[in-house]
Amino acid sequence: MMPRRQAPAVSKKRKYDESYISFGFVDSNGSPLCMLCSKLLPNSSMAPAKLRRHLETVHPESKDKNKEFLFVKRTVIESQKYDACNTNYQ
Ligand SMILES: [Zn+2]
Repeated sequence: MMPRRQAPAVSKKRKYDESYISFGFVDSNGSPLCMLCSKLLPNSSMAPAKLRRHLETVHPESKDKNKEFLFVKRTVIESQKYDACNTNYQ
């Protein structure tokens, strides 16, 4: 007897993957944060296809941005992030 209930959306959290940096996104408390427009997308958008679509539709000119540029930008954002909420770190 296994109750087959559908998992509520909140229980299946998507996880940030390092490769999402190439779409211009960083992890912000479990949600993808666009470094180009500082927009925080819902956790349900934490998927390569969705992140890429954001990049291609909102920032088509940044598609070919230098990866190095994104990494530098992330370093800046992360240093601020850890400053603000380092207790949240697992
Ligand atoms: Zn954006």
